[in-house]
Amino acid sequence: MAVDNHQIVVPTLLDVRKGNLKEIGPLLQRHEFKKVVILFGSGLTELFGDPVFGSLKASGIDVLKSEEVADIDIDGVVDRAFQLPFQTEAVIGIGGGKALDAAKYTALLRKWPFISVPTSMSNDGFSSSNTSLTIHGRRISVHAKMPYGIIIDIDVIKNAPECFIYSGVGDLVSKITAAQDWIFEEQNGRTRVDDCALMLSKKAVNSFVRTDFGTIKDDLFLKELADSLTMAGISMEIAGSSAPTSGSEHLISHALDTYSPHPQLHGLQVGVASYLMSKVQNHRFERIITVLKATGFFDFAKSAGMTTADFDMAIDKAPNVKPMRYTYLHVAKYRERAHQILHEDPILQDVLG
Ligand SMILES: [Zn+2]
Repeated sequence: MAVDNHQIVVPTLLDVRKGNLKEIGPLLQRHEFKKVVILFGSGLTELFGDPVFGSLKASGIDVLKSEEVADIDIDGVVDRAFQLPFQTEAVIGIGGGKALDAAKYTALLRKWPFISVPTSMSNDGFSSSNTSLTIHGRRISVHAKMPYGIIIDIDVIKNAPECFIYSGVGDLVSKITAAQDWIFEEQNGRTRVDDCALMLSKKAVNSFVRTDFGTIKDDLFLKELADSLTMAGISMEIAGSSAPTSGSEHLISHALDTYSPHPQLHGLQVGVASYLMSKVQNHRFERIITVLKATGFFDFAKSAGMTTADFDMAIDKAPNVKPMRYTYLHVAKYRERAHQILHEDPILQDVLG
């Protein structure tokens, strides 16, 4: 009998607004950090180094070491982690996926707080405790640690390439189908849904899809996207698994990553797969159409070169990506329905060609 309440870790420092990158010094000073190391994404020292170093210096914070992360092979990450100065009080990751993944794992290995500073909003990885590293050439998801702090500069993510914003939109919309898969799994006696994680994940996506916006570069739209992806990351921590944020649509994307000759950005694949699965689940597909049309997601996805043939393949491979789960795609009749919708739905035919 499970009687204990959840014990979870949530970020202590959380700051999402315009122009806060150049205020990173005062933000860290407020939390009494005095000596830090920084891992930048490839080429990002040139882009963001000046405001970051300037702000830290002005706040009396020493940067003991700053380096760029080119690869995330686990051996290299471990090797570099143990060369960092023992006086370090926090490790800051500034970049897209790789810098954050490396910094998160370094923080775990050295027992330092991790400060997550994403420079794009392409997925919910910046706020999750999972990190994706390469082991013997394969990308593996490893449990690491929840960020101590998350700092998101709206101006920075606005200036990142548009494909990342579309990817973030796709990854966030997927929480609608992921939730439905998780509930389906419980209805079939395979798991117990975590009520709190489900509520948070649903609230995150609902707040986002109900936000009025002009373009995807609107400040409010980007803040909603950032806040909601943050909440989605935290819902995984509550559940102790990725189930609240990752269902059959993510299995399709993982299958495309593994077997397609031309895998695309995570959130682009996931967004298209979410629309497909919402039709299979017969759940909230009108809402998903509205959001993916209004943001321009479908138009953008159309230019990415994804194909119906690849999706056909991914639907069949999906159940074996995570054999222990029981999503709609783990049931033969729903896989059949997915193939049928894939070939008959005018939006999917238009996007996938
Ligand atoms: Zn995702």
